[in-house]
Amino acid sequence: MAGKYLRNKMVSMGKNFSVLNSCVDKYPHAPPERVFAEIRSVFGFASAFAKTALPQDVIIKPGFAKIRYVKNNVPYLVQEDSFLKKGEIIFTFDDGPDLSSQGIAADMLMVREPSIFFVLGKKLNSAGRAIIRAENLMGHYIAVHGYYHATETDAPYTAYPTSKILDHISLVSDMIKDAAGAKPLFFRPPYGIMAPDALESVISDLKLVPLGWTIDTLDWSVKSPDELFDKAIALIQKRGKGIILMHDTQPQTAQTAGRLVIWLKDNNYKIVSPERITRAFYKD
Ligand SMILES: [Zn+2]
Repeated sequence: MAGKYLRNKMVSMGKNFSVLNSCVDKYPHAPPERVFAEIRSVFGFASAFAKTALPQDVIIKPGFAKIRYVKNNVPYLVQEDSFLKKGEIIFTFDDGPDLSSQGIAADMLMVREPSIFFVLGKKLNSAGRAIIRAENLMGHYIAVHGYYHATETDAPYTAYPTSKILDHISLVSDMIKDAAGAKPLFFRPPYGIMAPDALESVISDLKLVPLGWTIDTLDWSVKSPDELFDKAIALIQKRGKGIILMHDTQPQTAQTAGRLVIWLKDNNYKIVSPERITRAFYKD
């Protein structure tokens, strides 16, 4: 195979860019992508002359969100928060409902502004339904994450055709309306991964506002509540405002949310209503 030959040749030549260039010239039959893939796999970097032609960003709404193609052509929802002023924070919690959810929901109300809970349809058994109903009564927004997370095997939505994605999201939207008593307004694709055409269908057909995040606490990866508290504060201070992503499935998050809200209040941050998001999305 040309690839194997090229690999051996390159290893023997070392990391000499001009020689690599001539290698590419010498083997015109090898498709360039293949050649560059070989170079990457041998040397572990994308060479300066490789054409990494990822598709262009797809603007979902100017100043609000876009889809950006990242490594391996993965369509990734990039959220913007220009509609938030410095010091303004919106909390979002994913992957519930869970045992911790209601405690978090109560803690968040210490600032009298609601948060958004992006829930999974598969967790809406009778206990889950009771939790989101209680959250809704507290004034929080229950929103659609997916039925599974996102496919049955936790693969992103890019593994499903658009029609199936819409079926799932529509089902969860109905489940939420039925259990919580209010039609959801927001949708967040698991991992933030979704093809632009599927996302556009969710917006136009299901009337949901797509929402990513601008501060990812990676709370699932920090098991100590004290560490998570310090980390979240550092991220918030660094950015100065934002849409915060946490998970109400994580015990350490449940132990941190209340402290975080108090700290933000004492340090002149303002937790604002998710209505700010719908206003920003639907304006014009
Ligand atoms: Zn999730």
